[in-house]
Amino acid sequence: MLKVCKFGGTSMADASAIRKVKDIIESDNSRKYIVVSAPGKRNKSDIKITDTLYACYRDLADKGSFKERFALIRERFTGIVKDLNLSIDFDKILDQTEAEIAEKKSADFTASRGEYLSARIMAEYLGFEFVDAEDMIRFDSHGRLNDEYTDDKVKTRLKNIEKAVIPGFYGRNHEGKVKTFSRGGSDITGSVIARGVGADLYENWTDVSGFLVCDPRIVPDAKTIRFITYKELRELSYMGASVLHAEAIFPVMKAKIPINIKNTFKPEDAGTMIVPNEQYKSLGNEIITGIAGKKNFTVIFIEKSMMNSEVGFVRRVLSVIEHHGLCIEHVPSGIDTLSIVLESEQLKNGVLTDIVNEIRENVSPDYVHVIENISLIATVGHGMARRQGTAATLFSALAAAGINIAMIDQGSSELNIIIGVANDDYENCIKAIYNAFIN
Ligand code: ADP
Ligand code: ASP
Ligand code: MG
Repeated sequence: MLKVCKFGGTSMADASAIRKVKDIIESDNSRKYIVVSAPGKRNKSDIKITDTLYACYRDLADKGSFKERFALIRERFTGIVKDLNLSIDFDKILDQTEAEIAEKKSADFTASRGEYLSARIMAEYLGFEFVDAEDMIRFDSHGRLNDEYTDDKVKTRLKNIEKAVIPGFYGRNHEGKVKTFSRGGSDITGSVIARGVGADLYENWTDVSGFLVCDPRIVPDAKTIRFITYKELRELSYMGASVLHAEAIFPVMKAKIPINIKNTFKPEDAGTMIVPNEQYKSLGNEIITGIAGKKNFTVIFIEKSMMNSEVGFVRRVLSVIEHHGLCIEHVPSGIDTLSIVLESEQLKNGVLTDIVNEIRENVSPDYVHVIENISLIATVGHGMARRQGTAATLFSALAAAGINIAMIDQGSSELNIIIGVANDDYENCIKAIYNAFIN
């Protein structure tokens, strides 16, 4: 059994959390490759090391000096080193880091130092080897992860190292400069390492006991999802459920390495297992797996009789959006109707009016109607395809709650039903769906 474990910001936030991390690692000898985040928040009003580092970079760019701000970084890390009784000369490492930040003048390099320093401490504390992510993780000239190169490097670099600590969040770009993933990207590092070393399991340790069926701010006692497939998770994290970075599943998905979301502060909890489809069939028996949503969309509703028999109709509508360089969220369609769902943020400063006018010119529809302030809510679950009446249950629950549905898009995968409701109904809608399916 070989496990790769990633510990997030709260798990690395201070010495007391880091002691828990050590206990977890030492309690299971198969936990061999450890990926760490930068120290996160110790309490609600605290600031993440990564945010302070970005502020250091801004100070450097704006004022030419980041000394004062870096003192906060120094204080945080020396405090941890002292509380853990480590004999390492960390001041020297911090001096070197400060000098490198000043010399390189790069936002990505500066931000990456949180993970670097965190991993140096953890390697020392565990007695594991420190292996730098920049020697393994590579991005291509478009800024995308270079999968093959990275996989190869991870394999060869870690082949003869029994136990290692690796900083999350960054690698190198095609020019050899340090580049970070997007925020929360240490989850992707863990996934990449898990695939490279051929792990049996990728444990992602955080501050909750797994994925909850929906956002706990809306349903405070929401249940934990015990099993979920990669694809279901992709739908949920895309729609905003943010425990795991939305891109973290890709590296392990092909290799079929399950991910276990675990709680550093309650290690005895089973957490959520993210598994391939075929494994799920024998494990999960829920009708719906999760509910997630996002606010602030605009729906452009287009009606034209016989639009289906008009060659190129959809293409001409979509080309209007394409010319404006916008991303489309959904395109639900009927026989004589087509709706286009877009993030409202993209439609400011007259863009919406321009688009509607151009659609009118391009396809001469019978009717164009715009609905703004719409929330999209995805109800996700493999079980939906197996059970009859799932949609009926969902829609009657919303009717009973007095919620009007502005748009419906049942994904072709039968994995999810996405509905659009007024922003004002967002929370009530999620509550109503939760109560209809989960008891
Ligand atoms: P880490 O720093 O360990 O990577 P994150 O803050 O990125 O942790 O992710 C964990 C957080 O995700 C939780 O503390 C919780 O507030 C939030 N969260 C958002 N949606 C959900 C959900 N559906 N289930 C559980 N946690 C959620
Ligand atoms: N420290 C980085 C962030 O705050 C990466 C991570 O924690 O995954 O976004
Ligand atoms: Mg995270």
